[in-house]
Amino acid sequence: MSVYQVSCPARVHYLDSEIDELQDVPDGGFQVARSLWCLLEAGHTGLHHTFTQGLRATDELPARNLWTRWPDGDEYGPRRETLILPPCTEKFLAGTIEEESCGLPDGHVGRHGFEFGPPLTEADVLPEWLFRMFFD
Ligand SMILES: [Zn+2]
Ligand SMILES: [Zn+2]
Repeated sequence: MSVYQVSCPARVHYLDSEIDELQDVPDGGFQVARSLWCLLEAGHTGLHHTFTQGLRATDELPARNLWTRWPDGDEYGPRRETLILPPCTEKFLAGTIEEESCGLPDGHVGRHGFEFGPPLTEADVLPEWLFRMFFD
């Protein structure tokens, strides 16, 4: 769920009635935001996708994610739809304690979620002597 733009500049807006509906889904776990950015890589093809609502695991079902997807220029519908999509199974640093999941729906276009953002450089890493000043 992103109220900040991370990549694609497309955005979806929900009406009050739609927010009420999304908030009331059984096992819903999140506060639904009024306006959400598409989470796919900028310049992607196909439908825009944004994570809308998380559904908690129940006795019968695992946790699931509700996504909204829409064609370019159709952010208010009628071709906009909100549905459960399975997650992309790609992992960054798979098997390590820093393992990070993609967070996008299975079969998404463009790069994986963990590939976004500027690469880490030496300047992003706190030098050890400075680290000690704060944490020792
Ligand atoms: Zn998009
Ligand atoms: Zn992915």
